[in-house]
Amino acid sequence: MQGYKKKGKELGVEYLYDEVTGIEVKRKKIESVKTSKGAQIPCEIVINAAGPSASIVGKMAGIDLPVDPVRKMAYVFDPKIKFDYDLPLVIDTDGLLYFRHESGKTILTGKSIPDEPVGFNFEWDRDHYMDVVWPQVAERVPAFDTAKLIRGWAGHYAMNRLDGNAIVGHFGDIAGLYGAVGFSGHGLQQAPAIGKCLSELIQFGEYQTIDLSCFSYDRFRTGKLVFEEEMV
Ligand SMILES: Cc1cc2nc3c(=O)[nH]c(=O)nc-3n(C[C@H](O)[C@H](O)[C@H](O)COP(=O)(O)OP(=O)(O)OC[C@H]3O[C@@H](n4cnc5c(N)ncnc54)[C@H](O)[C@@H]3O)c2cc1C
Repeated sequence: MQGYKKKGKELGVEYLYDEVTGIEVKRKKIESVKTSKGAQIPCEIVINAAGPSASIVGKMAGIDLPVDPVRKMAYVFDPKIKFDYDLPLVIDTDGLLYFRHESGKTILTGKSIPDEPVGFNFEWDRDHYMDVVWPQVAERVPAFDTAKLIRGWAGHYAMNRLDGNAIVGHFGDIAGLYGAVGFSGHGLQQAPAIGKCLSELIQFGEYQTIDLSCFSYDRFRTGKLVFEEEMV
């Protein structure tokens, strides 16, 4: 991400560190955005890329997005054993627990809580690791029985509650309103391709490298949903 940011700046991108608090739409056209520092920036194009806050930003332009913040907790442990190779990403057969090497020495793990309530909650629950995650990891890999928890954090998936996939492209019937939201926990791996293709759509009016039209906002109107089944 830092690499993209650096290159963007080299190419003339100007970064403004502020919070968008309003989007002005007139006659179904984007006019400007308002920010928390009191600025009103005239513009013809707005791209909603607000991650777990996508729905809040969508509402500013009068658009409903089926995207909710859902807490996910990550845990890093020292396996206390040496590997000759890095473990690939392993997902247990329950589809909820995963683990993989993080930095050669430590291992990153987590297990989704199926009934985790929707909303922003940054509380990191150590007990979830001790009572749920570690026992299951140690059952799969008995050598992890002596593993030591080092750290962890709570973040949020931007969950698309309708089909678990990204919503990309032109949003609704407002000229100049675009978005790339609802990645449902797999946005990092898709981000470079999505960025390139969305820039093509905005610049040329059509996708050129990969046709992403199956991920359009319009699919909620046509009912052509793209269900994602492999989410952890
Ligand atoms: C624990 C965890 C593990 C994950 N593991 C993986 C993985 O292994 N592989 C993978 O591909 N993905 C993974 N993901 C998902 C990945 O992190 C996200 O899909 C990705 O970060 C989404 O990028 P984004 O740019 O859409 O949103 P974000 O990275 O959330 O960025 C949104 C940005 O919008 C800003 N913003 C919000 N509201 C406003 C506003 N009003 N004004 C201005 N700015 C605003 C926010 O501050 C933030 O900087 C994981 C996520 C979590 C939580």
